This record gives sequence, C-alpha cells and structure tokens, in this order.
Amino acid sequence: NHGLGDWIHRRRVRSRGRTALISAAGEQTYDQLAQRVDQLTNALADRGLSPGDRVAYLGENSAAFLETLFAAGSLGAVFVPLNTRLAPPEIQFALQDSGARLLVTSTTLSALAAPASRDTAVERILTVEDAPSRSEEPAAFPVPVEQFEAVLASGGTGRLDVAVELDDLAVILYTSGTTGNPKGAMLTHGNLTWNAINVLTDFDLSSKDVALMIAPLFHVAALGQGALPVLLKGGSIILEQRFEPGRVLALIEEHQVTNISGVPTTFQLICEHPAWEDTDISSLRNLTCGGSAVPLRVLDAYERRGLAFTMGYGMTETSPGATTLPPAYSRPKQGSGGLPHFHTDVRVVDPSDRPCPVGEVGEIQVHGPNVITEYWNRPEATASSFVQEADGLWLKTGDMGYFDEDGFLFISDRLKDMIISGGENIYPAQVEQQIAALEAVAAVAVIGVEDARWGEVPRAVVVVREGHELTEDQVLSHLDGKLARYKIPKSVVFVESMPRTASGKIRKPDLRRQFA
Ligand code: ATP
Ligand code: MG
Repeated sequence: NHGLGDWIHRRRVRSRGRTALISAAGEQTYDQLAQRVDQLTNALADRGLSPGDRVAYLGENSAAFLETLFAAGSLGAVFVPLNTRLAPPEIQFALQDSGARLLVTSTTLSALAAPASRDTAVERILTVEDAPSRSEEPAAFPVPVEQFEAVLASGGTGRLDVAVELDDLAVILYTSGTTGNPKGAMLTHGNLTWNAINVLTDFDLSSKDVALMIAPLFHVAALGQGALPVLLKGGSIILEQRFEPGRVLALIEEHQVTNISGVPTTFQLICEHPAWEDTDISSLRNLTCGGSAVPLRVLDAYERRGLAFTMGYGMTETSPGATTLPPAYSRPKQGSGGLPHFHTDVRVVDPSDRPCPVGEVGEIQVHGPNVITEYWNRPEATASSFVQEADGLWLKTGDMGYFDEDGFLFISDRLKDMIISGGENIYPAQVEQQIAALEAVAAVAVIGVEDARWGEVPRAVVVVREGHELTEDQVLSHLDGKLARYKIPKSVVFVESMPRTASGKIRKPDLRRQFA
C-alpha cells in the first residue's frame, strides 16, 4: 500500500506535532491532518463511494482541497481537480467526461457549481464554507447538498484499509486545452510520487521548509511540483486563495517562508511592491518559476537580495516536471528549460522518432515514472501521443526544442504552432518575443496563413496596450534586421483582446479560425 493516502499516515508518525497546513481554517499538524483525512475517507465510504469512483473538486486553495485529495487516495477513488476560472459548460464537460459521482465545492462558487452539475453523474455535492454567506439567492443544486465539515465530522476515526498501489489511478487532471479540447491526463499514485521524488532529488528541500502556495492547486504545477513534494518531506504549506504581493511579503516575514513558486509576473509584482525593500526576506531559499523565462531586471532584483530562481519545463502529462534549470545556471543558460529531472529521460527526435544531433530542433519526448501512459476516455489521443520503445513508452509532448552541447534543453515552440514557409520552419514564439519587446504591445500571437507562393506566411495578431498607439509599419520596421526575412510577418492585425484558456494561454486554434 503506497498510495498518496499512505504518505499522510507515514508522515503522521514521523512528523507528529509538526505543522502540515496553514490556511484560513487555521493550522493543522500532520496528526490532525491524518485524522481528518481518515474521518473524511470513512464518511465518503459511508456515502457509497468505492475504489475507482471519481470525486471532483471545484475550489480555491484550502485545507479541504488537500484533505479531499488524500481521502480519495486512501479510498482508492480518483480526485478530479477543476479550474475555478472555467465557464459552467466547461466544468460540466469535465464532470460529464470524468463521470464524477461526488462534487466538493465552496460556498462562494455555488453559482458556478450548480448549473455545471446538471446532466452529469454527480449524485451529491459537499460545500466548504469559505466566506460568510452573502445575501444572494441560494443556488439551486440539482442533487442533495451537504456541508463538508458536517460530513467530515460524521466519519469514524479508524483507518479504512483499502490496498492502493503505485499503478492505481490517483488524479484525472485536464490539460489546458491550448491546442484543442482539454484531455484528462490519468495521473497514477506512482506518477505523482515519482515527480515528488524528482523534485526532492533536484531541489534543496527539507522538512524545515515552509512553502507559500499562491498558485492554484488545481494546476498541476502547484499541486505536483509545489505542494506534494513538501508534504512528502514533512514540511509546512501555507495555502493562500489569491495572490496579493503585499500580503505575500508580510507572510514571508511572519512565517519565515522558504519556498515560493509562480510565473514570472508573480515574482515581478512582488519585487515592485513598495514593501519589498523593507521586508526581511532572508528566510527565502527556493524560488521556482515556470511558464516562460524570467526577465533580466527581475533576475537582477532578486539577485541583489542573494536569491536565484529555479526554472522548469513540464506539462500535465508529466506530473508535471520534465526538466529543471538549477539556480546556478539561471544566468549562463537563461532561456533554457534546463536538464531532465533526475529520474526522467528527455530526448529530441526527428519525425521518424530518431534522436536529433545536438543543436538541431525536433520534437521533445519524455519517458519516466512520472509520465502518464493514458488519457481518460480518449483512445485516439492515447494512441497518437506515445511511442513504444524497448525501454517503455515515450510521451510525444508536441513541443519542439533542442539540446545544447552541455545537455540543456531549449524549447522552441509547439509543433502545432510551427509555421512552414517556403520550406523553412518558423517558431512563432521567437517572433512573438521580438514583437512583445515593443512597449505598446500588451499581447501578441503569430500564426500561419495560407499563401499561394510560400505555402504559409506568418501573420501577427496584436493587442495594443491601453493609452498607446501602434501601426503595422512600426511593428514591421522594429523587426527589420532582428529576424530573418522569411520570419517577419507579412501582415499585422490588431484586436481588442486574445481568446484565452482558463489558465491564461492564448488559444491559437481560435485565432487561426478567425484570421488565417
Ligand atoms: P493542451 O495539451 O490541452 O493543448 P497545454 O499543453 O497548454 O494544453 P498544459 O499541460 O497545462 O496544457 O501545459 C503544458 C505545456 O506548456 C507544454 O507542453 C509547453 O508547451 C508549455 N510549457 C510549459 N513549460 C514551459 C516552459 N518553461 N517554456 C515554454 N513552454 C512551456
Ligand atoms: Mg499539452
């Protein structure tokens, strides 16, 4: 029995009396957390939940989020975290697709949860009280609703004995849907455990760490890379519902925070806050940043205070760590995704899946115990996303990149976004970076449009920053001399806003439908 539920029981003994969680609900030691997980596990079993059943969670960071994850794991049930920024039909899709029987949500999100749970397999809803009830009309739920705390309190305190193995399914996590419909990545207990082991091997974590969780746990980065490794090691986690830089600085001082993870903007807003200079941040040790490269002036601001970043590249399917760039390399290898995680293999291959030479761009593929082997309900996606080799399955990431001579991975762009113009490959990300450097640009995406002569040519779609003006000529003359001629867009269109996924990524398929 080595599932996620078991972790908490092993920690209960080893870390007795130590703080596991700090949240709006107060502080919980590992023994308290384990006891609450046992009670919730029993209460869910009393309500007819069996191994393999799906339990969806729609809510912000809270103790209840992790308690439900561990209770589902103890029961052999499957946890399905949902992004709270999704629209009701998108949540409904995830509920229908996963076939969740139970939905846990918060009182503030009931207006979203109620319509989304219609016409699904959801039989019961538990609500976590997370704010004083507002005087609005109570949402009309299609199924019985119970209070999370009351349900938990009704559960027996004994430990339910269900055998859960590393290969058993733990979590169905939907991908962002940047390249098409979201796919349910089937993360096993082993996938999440091995990713945590990778993080503990590659990062300098200890049981004394205090991790401030500002990114939402329903994203794989915060859950798999941020929270689970700290809990596996016996450290403490502070759960914040929303990101407010001034509050982050206050919490760092108050709790002697050691770890923060986020995207470049998170770290930029923290160091631009008026309280930055006067806050004692000497407790910080691990700053983890994903998504894109940290701008140099942000690197500088943290370096002046003796801090460097760990960068990372990954995806939902790899639980989520694929590569990581150690702090010592954040400057010499700026822009790189780093080295493969300790127990994970990464390769760059040509269209026949043969390894590319150093410096040559090909598809990035990942293999290892943290990588899924299946998508939920999507046999076609499963069949087209893996390559069978003698050593097992390799995930085709759909990302293009290359290794430099020292073995560091650089990510060029997504295969689906690559533009082929007159036989030359164009990686829109490179063109976008150049255009984004213009102060008047708030957002930019480069897509390929059909062209009789070249097959495809690049077109830039630009959102202009408020109070600024920008013309097509200004964009094009800015690129002149900075990029090869064939990479320079043949036209620029200006739009009010970009179509985005719930995790904030630009939906290029929508732009292509509209502008290609
Ligand atoms: P879908 O698979 O549904 O199209 P998605 O790939 O955006 O959506 P996620 O799993 O959330 O869903 O995102 C993983 C992707 O994010 C990677 O495949 C890669 O394209 C991009 N990514 C992650 N880290 C980095 C990084 N450090 N640099 C560049 N791109 C990155
Ligand atoms: Mg993807």
